[in-house]
Amino acid sequence: MKEDNVWQMTLERLDKTMALLGLTPGVQKYLREPRKIIEVAVTVKMDSGDIDIFKGYRIQHNTNRGPAKGGIRYHPQVTADEIKALALLMTIKCAVVNIPFGGAKGGVIVDPKKLSLRELENLTRRYTFEIINDIGPEKDIPAPDVNTNSQVMAWIMDTYSIDKGYSVPGVVTGKPIELGGSLGREYATSLGCVYTILSTLKTMEIDTSELNVAVQGFGNAGYHCARILYDMGFKIVAVSDSGGAILNKTGLDPYLVLEHKNKTKSVVGYKNSEDISGDDLLTTDCDILIPAALENQITEINSPNIKTKIIAEAANAPTTPAGEEVLLENNIFIIPDILCNAGGVTVSYFEWVQGNLSYFWSEREVKLKLRDIMEKAYLEVYKIHKDKKVDMRTAASILGVKRVARAMELRGIYP
Ligand code: NAD
Repeated sequence: MKEDNVWQMTLERLDKTMALLGLTPGVQKYLREPRKIIEVAVTVKMDSGDIDIFKGYRIQHNTNRGPAKGGIRYHPQVTADEIKALALLMTIKCAVVNIPFGGAKGGVIVDPKKLSLRELENLTRRYTFEIINDIGPEKDIPAPDVNTNSQVMAWIMDTYSIDKGYSVPGVVTGKPIELGGSLGREYATSLGCVYTILSTLKTMEIDTSELNVAVQGFGNAGYHCARILYDMGFKIVAVSDSGGAILNKTGLDPYLVLEHKNKTKSVVGYKNSEDISGDDLLTTDCDILIPAALENQITEINSPNIKTKIIAEAANAPTTPAGEEVLLENNIFIIPDILCNAGGVTVSYFEWVQGNLSYFWSEREVKLKLRDIMEKAYLEVYKIHKDKKVDMRTAASILGVKRVARAMELRGIYP
């Protein structure tokens, strides 16, 4: 297996879970296969007047438990294999937190930093148009992911609505509040991640005061994780983005780091901090390490040098199987992505429910409902981890895959 092929790595983990569950070969075959793979050429008229073409994907892995659900990312390294893997993880993740969705993911091979705002809008609208027959509130509901945000969701919603002839807010989640977005959605992934960290500290009987945290990635997931933990009294000792990393053992103020990043486009060079390499961030001495950037960041190469007690996977698939083996040998507790970052899709589910009913909840209500779901899922996973003596990722996967397989069994195979 090529270590950096996230699809092979995700399948390997799925196979392990399905074998533990004793699923029949037919069901195993079914769960390995994405239901629908859409590949499109996104044609965009650039500001120069030239035409450019970007390859885009929307992949729906499974819809047995409800409409497909998953983010859209814009990144130069997007591949079909990556999107397939992330779609499969979405299927399992939605089942782990027991919300009525299947799994999907979308992506466009593009470096959005090289596009003007107008080109970004053109790309988004054209991509939406190319997949328009396969998305919708009852079919497949996109959301933000790497390099996409509420503005991108607003353009998708508008394009879809124009095609239908009426407003369809339920086609995407992560929308601006003014267009039917849910309060709390912007930081839901991070708040959910923090709830799983707090549950871990409770089960490990670790006192939460004076704990040091390092965060890889200072985008939506990473910034809000750092901010929420900072507000709770944790010490944020290091953060990074694609430009590099910074360290201050006495603690960084994430609000001020964000101000600096907004001005300079990177966390690097922030006052009162030392510039370090991205690799150094991962091996920083800390109690909690939060990978919140991309896949394959923690590998067998750097994992022997990782000095933390807990890894909270805010990102999807940040740890390779070989890297994980080393971490587990070193007794590092991993809160796996399919549990740790499920707060985002959970509040997306709340947004979808609120939109469908046109009845909107207070921020307090959203947070309380999110906490209930995350704590319940955590305890269910933790129980499997203890009862079956498997690592937390395998435990979460057992919980999710079992629910998906059961839904498939109940629905049967058409015709
Ligand atoms: P984002 O685009 O807002 O932020 C990504 C951040 O990662 C940026 O700060 C970028 O500079 C940084 N980055 C990229 N490469 C890096 C590298 N090599 N080293 C250090 N930093 C690097 O994206 P996001 O929405 O925060 O997503 C981050 C991760 O969280 C992804 O894996 C995504 O799938 C996952 N996730 C996001 C959500 C959500 O609601 N946004 C939900 C679930 C999971």
